[in-house]
Amino acid sequence: MRVLVIGSGGREHALCRSLKLDPQVSELHCAPGNAGIAEIATLHDIVPTDPRQVAELAEKLGADLVVVGPEAPLVAGVADAVRASGIPCFGPGRQAAMIEGSKAFAKDVMNAAGVPTARSRTCATREEALQALEEFGAPYVVKDDGLAAGKGVVVTGDLEAALEHAGACERVVIEEFLDGPEVSLFALCDGSTAVALQPAQDFKRAYDGDEGPNTGGMGAYTPLPWAPEGLSEQVMREVVHPTVEELARRGLPYNGVLYVGLALTSKGPKVIEFNARFGDPETQVVLDRLRTPLAGVLMACATGTLAEQPPLAYREGSAVAVVVAAENYPADPVKGDVITGLEPTEHAYVLHAGTAVKEGRTVSAGGRVLAVVGTGHDQESARNNAYELVGRVRLRGSHHRTDIAR
Ligand code: AMP
Repeated sequence: MRVLVIGSGGREHALCRSLKLDPQVSELHCAPGNAGIAEIATLHDIVPTDPRQVAELAEKLGADLVVVGPEAPLVAGVADAVRASGIPCFGPGRQAAMIEGSKAFAKDVMNAAGVPTARSRTCATREEALQALEEFGAPYVVKDDGLAAGKGVVVTGDLEAALEHAGACERVVIEEFLDGPEVSLFALCDGSTAVALQPAQDFKRAYDGDEGPNTGGMGAYTPLPWAPEGLSEQVMREVVHPTVEELARRGLPYNGVLYVGLALTSKGPKVIEFNARFGDPETQVVLDRLRTPLAGVLMACATGTLAEQPPLAYREGSAVAVVVAAENYPADPVKGDVITGLEPTEHAYVLHAGTAVKEGRTVSAGGRVLAVVGTGHDQESARNNAYELVGRVRLRGSHHRTDIAR
């Protein structure tokens, strides 16, 4: 199988690593990729959000499967263009990807499908926003309706700050605050059938103790020993299947991963958000534990044959990912510094995110620079193995959380 992966982050390095380990994969390509992916795949310098460029590259390579990593290409219609050229694609089309691209659309689908989620209102004026904020009360949750790379959501006890965020966006979704631990569940979908991957938890705040600004994610671990028994089955039954059916009913078959961000509230799991792609850095740990060869599963999602696949199998034990971020991330990350100490140890390895090669050396090229994945027979040993390798990575000014999976 010739596989082309679209994207350049840690999630795509994790996807490429697992695809590379699949004996079915004879050729692996990635566009645009990063310094780590370059070691295992052939890179192509195209604009990943340009549907025509992606489809043309896939055709030129004779790709059997295209896997789209990030949300921006999906929302731009990359999957539609690839499928139109007759090549199977893992990733929803532009309209189905609006489940992530528009919070208002996601809410509409959830309400139509009877999916448990926070009560909400979509507001376009200050008056509407004020009314909704007063209706739901503090803490206030205000979400930019459009794609904002994880930075569109403000949760605050300060009414003025909530109104200010609402005023800065064209359209916002204001909703009730959901209390409870957060869990990410990825469901692989083939248009009608869906299967759950192992749940994971990520750490969104920049600093230890969940302090500081929101980020794309500073770490993750799987499995979740504390998760209620039967959680995946319940979420598949109450959330994923109804959502996939509702999208199909609207003529938007969903081929790809449905990322369900959940709050485990006292009234049961409720959806905080949907994403149309794998989460980063949860993917780095979930794929590490997945024993089933990845390419066949993603191909089955792309071709509507998931029901014919054997059940997914996992490795025993635990995986923990710790993100190493550039100086001054997330505000204004410093780039272009040399990184060393990237060699794997027996039970830990580095997945690149914002890296590039400059004059033969690996340098930082983004906010989240890399994730160290540690594995072990339990969470503690996986965490220790991850942090031991984090301690060897050298990048001037970099920072990481010390409490991932603790
Ligand atoms: P989102 O982009 O929708 O995932 O929101 C980012 C983060 O904001 C989530 O991971 C939660 O920590 C928080 N958040 C979003 N919606 C809610 C809510 N209704 N109640 C509490 N926290 C929320």
